[in-house]
Amino acid sequence: MTDATHNLSLEEMDRQSVIHPFTHLKDYASGALGDPRIVETGKGVRITDQKGKTFIDGFAGLYCVNAGYGRTEIADAIYEQAKKLAYYHAYAAHSSEPVIRLSDRILRKAPANMRRVYYGSSGSDANETQAKIVWYYNNVRGKPEKKKIISRHRGYHGGSMAAGSMTGLPVYHKAFDLPIDRIKHTTAPHYYWGAQAGESEREFSKRCAGDLESMILAEGPETVAAFIGEPVLGTGGIIPPPEGYWQEIQAVLDKYDVLLIDDEVVTGFGRIGTEFGSDYYGMKPDLMTVAKGLTSAYLPLSGVIVGDKVWKVLEQGSDEYGPFAHGYTYSAHTLCAAAGLANLDIIDTEDLTGNARDTGSYLQDRLQETFADHPIVGEVRGVGLLAALEFVADKDEKTRFDATAKVGPKVAAACLERGLIVRAMPHGDILGFAPPLVISRAEVDEVVDIAKQAVDAVTDQLSRDGILKAA
Ligand SMILES: *Cc1c(COP(=O)(O)O)cnc(C)c1O
Repeated sequence: MTDATHNLSLEEMDRQSVIHPFTHLKDYASGALGDPRIVETGKGVRITDQKGKTFIDGFAGLYCVNAGYGRTEIADAIYEQAKKLAYYHAYAAHSSEPVIRLSDRILRKAPANMRRVYYGSSGSDANETQAKIVWYYNNVRGKPEKKKIISRHRGYHGGSMAAGSMTGLPVYHKAFDLPIDRIKHTTAPHYYWGAQAGESEREFSKRCAGDLESMILAEGPETVAAFIGEPVLGTGGIIPPPEGYWQEIQAVLDKYDVLLIDDEVVTGFGRIGTEFGSDYYGMKPDLMTVAKGLTSAYLPLSGVIVGDKVWKVLEQGSDEYGPFAHGYTYSAHTLCAAAGLANLDIIDTEDLTGNARDTGSYLQDRLQETFADHPIVGEVRGVGLLAALEFVADKDEKTRFDATAKVGPKVAAACLERGLIVRAMPHGDILGFAPPLVISRAEVDEVVDIAKQAVDAVTDQLSRDGILKAA
């Protein structure tokens, strides 16, 4: 396809005009990386590109298209609302009906202590809001020193200034002068790599909580405001917590008057088979972040859900500081809220949370039986419709592949060749699965079968290249 004015193909136009996230800018611009994949249509769990090639999307975009592609119910809701009123702002007590109904609905789904919702457009800006709310909270409480936020290594909370700092992955920091100095990182709760010889999961969880406590004491409890974590580590490797982890962490937070910010951007609205990840793990959040699954990405919308303890202080703050001086033009965007409502209708009427639980446990079983004994798979892990395979050079010795062998990306590429999209996670040789919540058992079979062929093909290649020593 060409453009009439300058006769460039769409592919070339893209290379000459778009900056893509997580893309080698120079190699892409020069053409060395080849053509972009121009995605044109989607239906259910599948997308089709402009060349007519169809893929099964085992990662739901970026674990966000939970209701699946091509949902005309959401499209219609957006269209109807846009004809009536696409947007009005939410400043100075203005509102619109979709925003009101969505907020009420979110609070009814959320834990009982949740009181209000503040909206943004992305998970990153919602976590910026979290930092500002936490700082505001302690200013109102007369604790101006209590401002530090502790996150985890391997945590993922977005890419903006505060949220990118909370993210515990070096590639998000290195060239961007992050993290900012109020944000610290503690131990990643990954039992497979982190446990000491003979240590049980519970003991490991205790040690993680001990590390957190030591950090709080070293920094000074009077300076530590909040802890942020995803119920299940997501982009850092899709790592469910070890047994007892959240209970151990919670005890430390309670002891030092430290708020819990529960980042539910991936786990919110059903992905692991419960409404929120906090329900699954018995967490007691003070603040929650939601985004991706809220609209299934039909329009961008995020939310900060504020619990009772913080809400009371925010109200109190009005006396001292006047109107709450934090807002985005698109806070509580009318059309995005309409998309959110239509999406939650689908999640509820089709019981996609139940499907995440049932078909999710089928996915976990199939991955276990297919890969647990595979020579290059060190760990098969996951919960609900969120899963990962971690590749290792030697299972008994627990040694990683050399990063230059790019085993994770190679497996993802081998899946892609076979019509399956899964994600090579950015940290380590990890293949991530997070399909739309509408996936069926037959589609899970397709995903697992293709992944098996791909892992086998890469294993053969690694043996031929002498990277994998013969078993
Ligand atoms: C994706 C993600 C974010 C950031 O959301 P964006 O919309 O990409 O800014 C934050 N937290 C978690 C857990 C995420 O997975």
